This record gives sequence, C-alpha cells and structure tokens, in this order.
Amino acid sequence: MKKIYLKKGKDESLKRFHPWVFSGAIAHADKGIEEGDLVQVISSENQFLAVGHAQIGSIAVRVLSFKDEPIDEKFWEHRLEVAYDLRKSIGLAGSEHTNAYRLVHGEGDNLPGLIIDIYDRTAVMQAHSVGMHVNRMDVAHALQKVMNGVVENIYYKSETTLPYKANLNQEDGYLLGGGGECIARENNLLFHVDWLQGQKTGFFVDQRENRSLLEKFSKNRSVLNMFCYTGGFSFYAMRGGAKLVHSVDSSQRAIDLTNENVELNFPGDTRHAAFAEDAFKYLDRMGDQYDLIILDPPAFAKHRDALHHALQGYRKINAKAFEKIKPGGILFTFSCSQAVNKDQFRLAVFTAAAQSGRSVKILHQLHQPADHPINIYHPEGEYLKGLVLYVE
Ligand code: SAH
Repeated sequence: MKKIYLKKGKDESLKRFHPWVFSGAIAHADKGIEEGDLVQVISSENQFLAVGHAQIGSIAVRVLSFKDEPIDEKFWEHRLEVAYDLRKSIGLAGSEHTNAYRLVHGEGDNLPGLIIDIYDRTAVMQAHSVGMHVNRMDVAHALQKVMNGVVENIYYKSETTLPYKANLNQEDGYLLGGGGECIARENNLLFHVDWLQGQKTGFFVDQRENRSLLEKFSKNRSVLNMFCYTGGFSFYAMRGGAKLVHSVDSSQRAIDLTNENVELNFPGDTRHAAFAEDAFKYLDRMGDQYDLIILDPPAFAKHRDALHHALQGYRKINAKAFEKIKPGGILFTFSCSQAVNKDQFRLAVFTAAAQSGRSVKILHQLHQPADHPINIYHPEGEYLKGLVLYVE
C-alpha cells in the first residue's frame, strides 16, 4: 500500500482519532497515489498512524482505521455489524412501528464518506468520496451479508454527491435487487419514499424524533409546515389533533407526494391543504392564522464561504414567522447546515426575534437523532440544530 508522510508535529489530531488528514499536514507522499486509493499515513518518526482513502482537496485522507489492519471483506462486515448493532440497541432496527432509519452516518459510524439509509427492504447507499465509490461493491456485499433477510435491494445514489472534479460519470442504479419506491413506516405513519426521483436518499429520516415532539404540541392548533418536502411534520400534527395543517414547498413533486401521503394516512381528511410556492413569497402573503409554525429549510450554507448569506436567510424567514405567528404560538425552527454552528443559528433566530419585538422563550433545543451519531473525535459531524420557541 502506498504511503503518505506527515510533517513533524502534524500527527496530533490523528493521535486524538480525528478522521481527516489535511493536505497542509503532508510532508511528502509515494508517487502515483490516485484519488480513492487506500493509503497508509505515517508520522515524521516513521510510525504507522492510520489507513484511509486518499482524496484531492483540502482533506487529503479520510481515515478508515487507526489500526494497521487490512481493509478487506471482514473489515467492511465488522464496521456494518457495529452500525447495525447500534441501531438495534436504540430500538430502531427490528422495530414494528418504524422501518426507515439511517444505518451508516459517515464519520459517525467510522465510515467517512458513506451514507446508508434503510427503507423497509431497500438500502439506499450514497458515496461522498471517491474511495467509498471504489469500494461500493465491497460495501454492498458486506451489507447483504450483515443484513441478510432484511435488505433485498441496494440502490446506489451518488450521481450528485461524488466530487464533481473526479469526473466519474457515475449513474445511479441498483447494486442488488430492484424495485421503484416503497411505503415506509415511521412511528406508524406511512410515507411514499421515492429514492429514484426524491431528494437526498428519498426521505429525511433525521427529523423523526423532532416530528414526534411536534405531535405533542399540535392539539387544536393551526399549523404551517414550511419546507414540508413529503409532509413529514404535517402528519404528526394531524395525528396530534391539529385543527388545520398547511404544507408548503417550492417543489411541485414534493407537494404531490405530500398529497399522496395524506391519502395514505388520513384519507379524505379536509384539515390538510398543500401549496407549491416559494417560502419567502408565502410567508409574505400569509395572514396571522397560524399558531404552530415549522421552518425546516434546506441547508442555506453548503460551504463556509456562504455562511454570511445563510445567516441572513435564517434571520429573514424566522423574522417573518415571529411577525405573523399568533400570540401564544409555537415555532419549530431548524438549520441543517453543517457550516452553521449552534450559536450562530441561535444568534440569527435571536436577531429575528428582537426585530419583531415579541417576547420569546426557548422550550426545547433539538438536534439530530441517535441513528445520526456524532463521533466524539469528529465534532464536525453535528449538523442538525433546532429550537422550539414560545412566542407571547
Ligand atoms: N421538513 C422536511 C424536509 C425539508 S427539506 C421533512 O420533514 O421531510 C427542505 C425542503 O425545502 C425541500 O423539500 C425543498 O424542495 C424545499 N425548498 C427549497 N427551497 C425552497 C423555497 N425557496 N421555498 C419553499 N421550499 C423550498
């Protein structure tokens, strides 16, 4: 295996098990290393530190193991077994009321660059690094073995997540089995999940627990579910006894799926209506009929350079909600941008609240669920932040 040698003093973060090697830490490397290759990382004292996937860019290696071990069939199986055991131990894998969950959350499961979501009998796999792309069949075979009898289909969806410059021309498709979409179950609510055409892996499993909390706040309330996608929060609100629920998303396809999901869960229920419209326009034109508002926008900042712009975006949409929400209203507001930290998000929401002049209290601070674990040595893995606010 080819080797990458670090500069003196640049091995500290690896000794603390941080799973990335930055290009600036590298003294020299063996010739002929290509993106996606397995490489060994060696200290300036010539000691083995880690083995991982080589990358082009500021992150030069994503570490798979801090042990000098072969990255073979057994390695992949073991990593997936650990991930599967974790989901069993938190009551998700094998649950009767939920069959949609995240099995692998990248660095959080010591598998940097890999995402696997499970929807009933289908696994949707996404590679974010060339290394994981190269190893995709190894992962698929290991998954088939580890989840034998549960997973029958593996869909590989990496067209838009692989580094664009790598020019892999990868097309999405099945690595195992087939099929189109499925009806997944989350806390006994049903959702059409369409991994072929849907966003991300087809569904946002990361909001499961926050949706459950919303259910408890919904009785007799008039609810606006902004950025609804396929309606996740809306059905929990309906089950919780909401008076009316309006779901809004700019994507017509998302609104169609939301309406299909209404028919699955609450056929003919006239409390629900869905609108395909831009959030800023809708928030501008809407009245003051809502006393429970959910704001779950897409990642406004995909990169650090976009941070300022993103914070303005969060401030603007939250200001609109504060301006219009009924007295005694509840606001569920989120950010899923990794580049925006908890404090920055809170400051943006705080600024919006101050602008409205309303009295606002924080009731809950929300985060990603346990099937999106954060590797303690990789704090960057924390991405989902939310606040539940009481607006006087
Ligand atoms: N809350 C959803 C997930 C939201 S993902 C759930 O629980 O499943 C973000 C959604 O915002 C996407 O569906 C996307 O289509 C939508 N979106 C993006 N930009 C928008 C805009 N300007 N106005 C309204 N919706 C938008």
